Parts: sequence; C-alpha cells; structure tokens
Amino acid sequence: MSERPSSNRRGLRGDSVDLNPLFARPGESAEVPLFSLPDDEMLPETAYQIVHDEAMLDGNARLNLATFVGTWMEPEANRLYAETVDKNMIDKDEYPQTAAIEERCWRMLAELWHEPDPAHAIGTSTIGSSEACMLAGLAFKRRWQQARRAAGKSTEKPNLVMSSAVQVCWEKFCNYFEVEARYVPVTNEHRVLDGHRLEDYVDENTIGVVAIMGVTYTGAYEPVAQIAAALDAIEASTGLDVRIHVDGASGGMIAPFLQPELEWDFRLPRVSSINTSAHKYGLVYPGLGWVLWRTAAELPEELVFRVSYLGGDMPTFALNFSRPGAQVLLQYYTFLRLGRAGYTAVQSATRDVAMYLSGEIAKMGPFELWSDGSDIPVFAWALRPDPERKWDLDDLSDRLRAHGWLVPAYPMPADLDTVTVQRIVVRNGLGRNLARDLLADIRKAVDYLDSLDAPPPAPVAKAGFHH
Ligand SMILES: *Cc1c(COP(=O)(O)O)cnc(C)c1O
Repeated sequence: MSERPSSNRRGLRGDSVDLNPLFARPGESAEVPLFSLPDDEMLPETAYQIVHDEAMLDGNARLNLATFVGTWMEPEANRLYAETVDKNMIDKDEYPQTAAIEERCWRMLAELWHEPDPAHAIGTSTIGSSEACMLAGLAFKRRWQQARRAAGKSTEKPNLVMSSAVQVCWEKFCNYFEVEARYVPVTNEHRVLDGHRLEDYVDENTIGVVAIMGVTYTGAYEPVAQIAAALDAIEASTGLDVRIHVDGASGGMIAPFLQPELEWDFRLPRVSSINTSAHKYGLVYPGLGWVLWRTAAELPEELVFRVSYLGGDMPTFALNFSRPGAQVLLQYYTFLRLGRAGYTAVQSATRDVAMYLSGEIAKMGPFELWSDGSDIPVFAWALRPDPERKWDLDDLSDRLRAHGWLVPAYPMPADLDTVTVQRIVVRNGLGRNLARDLLADIRKAVDYLDSLDAPPPAPVAKAGFHH
C-alpha cells in the first residue's frame, strides 16, 4: 500500500504535479494537486500529457525478470483490445457473443487438460488466478460442509493442506474464508510437496489438497500424480476421500505443450479442479484467469448465482460483478492465432532461453542452481557458501537494478527460510540477444562485487519481495 500524505493541503512541496509550460493552456492551472480532486476541468490533451508522462516513469517491463505477467501482444491484438475495452463480462445479456466466446475458451482448456467428460465439465473466466483459486477453495469448503452435514458431523475447523511455498493467494483464501492453512514445509530433501508424510497433515476436516504446477519461488512442478497416490493410500487406510486442486497459474499453459506426457491434470481422477492465469503463459494482457471443475457436480449449485438486473439469467460464480470482457476476447484471439503448434513453438523458445540462461549461470563460480527452467521457464539459484565472499544476492540484485534489470532475491519459505535465492522468470520477449546482455551484466556485477575489499553498502530496498 502506498504511503498516505500527512496533509493534502495545497501548496505544500511534494503534493502537486507541475505542468510543463509547453502543455499548459491559457487559463489552466499549472499545478495539479496530488491528493485532492482538482477544482476545475482541464483539456483532454493536458490530462493525457500528465498521465502519460507519469506512467512513463514506471519500469521498463521488458527488463522486468521478476513478473510472470504478459506485457506484450501483437498489433492485431492491440487493435482488438482497443475495439472491445468497453465490454463488461458480467453483462452476458448485452454481450452474448463475448459470453459464448468465454465458454469456447474454457471448453478448449477442458480439452487441453484432458477433461474426461466434456459434456459435464464446467468453468469460468476470472480476473486472475487469485480469484480462480478463491472459487476453487470455496467449492472445496462447501462440498466438505455438505458432506459433513449429511453425515451429521461438525463443520467447525475446516483445513486446507498445501506446501509452505504456495502463492500468497492461498494464504488469502484461508484468511478471508476462515479455513486453517496446513503448510507442509519444504526441506532440502523434499523441495516441493511430493506426498511425503501427507498422512500427518490430512484428517477428516481437510477440504482439499493444493498441488502447484510451477512453484512461484523456483518454477518447479509438484508431482501431482505422486500426491494423488499418497491420497489414494490415505483413502485406503482411513476412508477419507480428499481431492486435489491444481494451481496451474503458470504451468497450466506450459505443461500441455512442453510436457504433454506428464500426468498432472484431469487424467488423474483425484484432480477436482484446475486454474491458470491467462495473463501469464496464456499470453494475454492482465487480468484474466480461468478455473475449471472436472464435473458440474463438483461445484455446489448453491454457490452459483443467477441475477436478472441486467436482463436474462445467466448463471455466474465469481467474486466480482463487473469486470472487463476484452481479455476474454484476447484469449480467444491467441487460441485461434497460435493453436497447439503456435503455443508449443512459443513456449519451447521461452524454455530454451531459460535453460540457456540457467546453464550459463550455473557455470559462473559463485552460484548453484535451485532449478533449471525445464519445468516452467523459471529458475532460481543460490550462492555457494564461501566465507571469503563479502556480498550476497541482494547486493547482486541491487547492482543489476542499476542496469535496469529487475532480478529479485528473496528467502525461500519455511523450513528453508535461511536460504536466499534469486530468480529469473523468462517470458515471451526475452530472446537470446537480451539474454546475452543480461549474462554480460551479471558477470560484470559479480566481478565488481568480488573486487570490493569490504561489503557494499546495504541495498536501499531490502524490504522483501512480494510474489
Ligand atoms: C501468479 C500465481 C498466482 C496468482 O495469480 P494472479 O493471476 O496473479 O492472481 C497463484 N498461484 C501461483 C502458483 C502463481 O504463480
């Protein structure tokens, strides 16, 4: 959250934007208050110039190797976006074609994720994976409550079992919807949730288990089939039938193309629902996500709303009401434009760059890889221990920032939180040439840091990295 000004009175230094005299029109104020609504109007060109100039101060998205989110689309997609920005996804009666296209998109995903019974599948678009995960979690919780009530048992204290390396959206889900978060710690021997000792975490109050396809910290896949097998064993010994939600925020749009043989999706009967972020490797601008359930029966009907204020009574399951519809059309555009062959080509090229980068970084003395980018095109590395070294990965991150690169360093989650890693997310648009420039800058930064006789001054922003 940004800091609030202590005062929003006019005239204080730092709480207004000056207008370049070149753009100021006669009669217009040359100063614009930052934190109070201006008293008067201004010309559209002036307002445009102010917002345009301020937005320019944001980072260069191309050099941001921290984010998973798409920052580039083709000119045709941009044209489509401009033509459709006004569409409201909730207004399915006004925009029935957009609603029909939304359904085509999730049905395509159902096929991609090996939905066994397409006629009974159900899915929806969302604002991103976070909303998608909330919906999947809510379906789990409600199904568990229904089953408990039917059995005459208590519905107090539901819990959700997942790795300590889950993305923050799962912590939010548990916090907002009052579900106990049971984190299975990651360790050196079990770097991802792999089913090891799962029986210690699962009990009759477990609403589900989350498996991550593409752990945010490292890019590694969790072995969903192995987790499912552990749950099969638990069911055999205790009778508890616990289902899996796969958080495929990034991997949901990578695995079908790069690891088609890997069984992580609806091919595993225990997988109840899957989400992905269209704005990550789905190659669409933010914000769009998808969530699908194996069958409509797994999504309790009582969570679905039918409202008639906008005409019609299309069923919806969502946290938001109004939200942009244009991204759905952009997703349909990319599905048509790329098809299976195109997605495979784009994702392969991205993975090749990730593996080239991780290979070169592994050859540099101080680093050891934590992952290599062969699952999703994301990898992380740590520093090899060296008592002589006077710098750490935060210092390296800081040096790279001076060259414009955003390559975050952060501690791993519990129980590995004494290990700091640095991560690169390779996206479409980080090509070989840019990768070579990055490697040159990393080498330069390492040489510089190695040449210091004393530790460099602490980086300004050591405030922690938000995934
Ligand atoms: C990015 C991410 C999310 C959250 O996705 P948004 O689309 O940004 O809301 C959830 N889970 C994982 C594993 C992620 O990588």
